[in-house]
Amino acid sequence: MTATNAKQSFYSGLEQNLTALREQGLYKAERVLASRQGAEVVCDDGRTLINMCANNYLGLSGDEAMVRAAIDATEKYGYGLSSVRFICGTQTVHKQLERALADFLGMEDTILYAAAFDANGGLFEPLFEEEDAIISDALNHASIIDGIRLSKAARFRYRHNDMADLEVQLQAAAGKRHKVIVTDGAFSMDGTIAQLDRICDLADRHGALVMIDESHASGFMGATGRGTHEHHGVMGRVDIITGTLGKALGGAMGGFTAARREVIQTLRQKSRPYLFSNSLAPSIAGASLAVLQRLSSSTELRDRLHANTVYFRRAIAELGFTIKPGTHPVVPVMLFDAPVAQQFAQRLYELGVLVTGFFYPVVAMGQARVRVQLSAAHTTEQLDRVLAAFGQAGRELGLVKL
Ligand SMILES: *Cc1c(COP(=O)(O)O)cnc(C)c1O
Repeated sequence: MTATNAKQSFYSGLEQNLTALREQGLYKAERVLASRQGAEVVCDDGRTLINMCANNYLGLSGDEAMVRAAIDATEKYGYGLSSVRFICGTQTVHKQLERALADFLGMEDTILYAAAFDANGGLFEPLFEEEDAIISDALNHASIIDGIRLSKAARFRYRHNDMADLEVQLQAAAGKRHKVIVTDGAFSMDGTIAQLDRICDLADRHGALVMIDESHASGFMGATGRGTHEHHGVMGRVDIITGTLGKALGGAMGGFTAARREVIQTLRQKSRPYLFSNSLAPSIAGASLAVLQRLSSSTELRDRLHANTVYFRRAIAELGFTIKPGTHPVVPVMLFDAPVAQQFAQRLYELGVLVTGFFYPVVAMGQARVRVQLSAAHTTEQLDRVLAAFGQAGRELGLVKL
């Protein structure tokens, strides 16, 4: 190949792969919003839609109080730090947020990251070595999988949410020095909540640590929104918690790891996404602090989300749709067939409801669905309009009777 041809073949190869994705119906197009994120959004085509597919669990993303808090923090601390934390990128607001997150989660200390993806990416390599074992749920988030790959520890995978297989894997890892069980606290595709009470019992029996990723739990799971560990009554028994500031806790971006002091201090010394990436913007740190103060003083948002979830789950089942049972605000409405899921989402869009169809390879073959996500910001009137649209589109496509 000539030099020019080699370059051409690189670009034409990418073009072929993209064409193949489009032909297979796997190409991910992006909706463009022209408004704030919220219960209702305006798209760039001018349509107003009720949004049922954001991780905006507590409805804070477009919330006026959040915007104010971010502006206040920007005025006080400036726009950005132009530095990593350990050089000159740590402000009082970062230390306050780390303290507040630790207290909220019932942990000793917290370290901030630019994203939960980074928190997970930089967690395992500094803490676990060749002599150690990481035992991970098969459906854990991509960032956990990537983070584990970066560590030299032996890897064991247990079948999703399968406690018998977890025990088998713990036994297989018996010769290892340190063991850690790793799981999403709540799984975003099915709304499955990890069986943390049983996981903690198994961990105790096998001398293993427990790590959970609370990205779909922090702020609203459990009676006061602390997370899955509160939901399952195991606060104080989980060793490491990672999570995001980009979902329920405000929705901007940013991530964290909470654990004992020795763990957090080690991460500050050795975790590469922390050492070699910029500080969280002060606006986000300040606004996140305001969120934690709000959630610590009142469970109103969490309670409203819970009430909306109960209301929607019951009503959508009564319409005749099949949903994955559960209690999480992620409600998978099962359609099983990929083209049907796409058509259904498209018809709902025309009817003023924003949802996304998911199909293989994002979910297992034959498990296509639209995933609904409830928010504290949804009014009952909006949910009723969504339910009416689901009913209409479902009848039109022959998915439900009447
Ligand atoms: C969304 C998500 C992440 C990534 O969070 P970011 O802060 O957006 O990087 C990590 N883990 C889980 C389980 C998630 O759902």
